[in-house]
Amino acid sequence: MIQIIALALRDEGRTLLAPEPTFVMYRLVAEVLGQRFAGVPLKAADFSLDLPAMLAAIRTHSPAVIFLACPNNPTGNLFARHEIEAILKAAPGLVVIDEAYFPFARETWLHDILQHPNLVVLQTLSKMGLAGLRVGVLAGAPAWLDEFNKIRLPYNVNTLSQVSAAFILEHAELLEEQAAQIVRDREELTARLRVLPGLTVWDSRANFVLFRVAHAGAVHESLKQRGVLTKCLDGAHPLLKDCLRVSVGTPDENGAFLGALQATLEGG
Ligand SMILES: *Cc1c(COP(=O)(O)O)cnc(C)c1O
Repeated sequence: MIQIIALALRDEGRTLLAPEPTFVMYRLVAEVLGQRFAGVPLKAADFSLDLPAMLAAIRTHSPAVIFLACPNNPTGNLFARHEIEAILKAAPGLVVIDEAYFPFARETWLHDILQHPNLVVLQTLSKMGLAGLRVGVLAGAPAWLDEFNKIRLPYNVNTLSQVSAAFILEHAELLEEQAAQIVRDREELTARLRVLPGLTVWDSRANFVLFRVAHAGAVHESLKQRGVLTKCLDGAHPLLKDCLRVSVGTPDENGAFLGALQATLEGG
């Protein structure tokens, strides 16, 4: 859907814009399509939007599309509602709110598409453990959908995926309970991480936790040696220096991760 949006609004010299660090596909899709991409740094302390910088970039670039991941990946935070309102007001083009992590944050802009004709909202089954199905939804004004449908390939969601998704969604309460459990485990994982010395741990509204640790590359390698795979984000963006992202697993997996991290920090 990100690709469909970028393709539909492709125009020579127009810019796609997003705060960064964020989901890398926005930049990647723009670059593959030969579109300009402008990344506006988030605030270093808490990865919140730098609203003046966003508004200035909107004036400078007059972007065809602005992508806002809410919660943001890989930082895990939600952007403030009033700041997104300001961006919706200032944007000369489309604003895409990507709610891939909605199951864990339970806050949505879906209802706001009625008031904001330049807003579309994305959701997906991917982060509920069904990434292989390739099923998500895009909601927005019918005029936008008409444009996206012009370039959407026939059966871009195959029949088996459609039938599977329909079946799974009849049992949505199972997925919701699973997500609620992950949220509870995320809070415990965050609290236990904060006890360890020398870490900076950010609050997350998603199903992962971002933290900073000295020598993140070496810590990532040591965790891997101990059978725990994290995402090393050091080098991905200047604001992510020495940052690792860990997905919330089962309580056993979270415990194994914490044990491995503690042993690494103690040099054991
Ligand atoms: C994982 C992720 C997606 C990808 O969703 P798919 O439905 O699997 O394509 C989109 N946006 C963000 C922010 C994500 O983290």
